[in-house]
Amino acid sequence: MAGSTRHDPLECPSCGCELDCSSSFSGNHRPPEPGDVTVCIKCASALSYGEGLSLTICNLDDLDPHFKLEIERVVRAVQKARDSL
Ligand SMILES: [Zn+2]
Repeated sequence: MAGSTRHDPLECPSCGCELDCSSSFSGNHRPPEPGDVTVCIKCASALSYGEGLSLTICNLDDLDPHFKLEIERVVRAVQKARDSL
């Protein structure tokens, strides 16, 4: 993860956790935009930013196969970090 950006609180549609920060693993340090994908730090669900930066659960099968692998790698990393707490 290259950097983090604070933003207005958003609710994870999977677990209800309040998310107020996003991190980029592309090195492109910027606030999230509609169409971006994130991973909830609490439940490790892959989420998509929509219009108005609402969050919805991301269907990984809709992603480019290479990007899907990257997101799955991040999901596993979050799960591993969560399980080690
Ligand atoms: Zn969550």
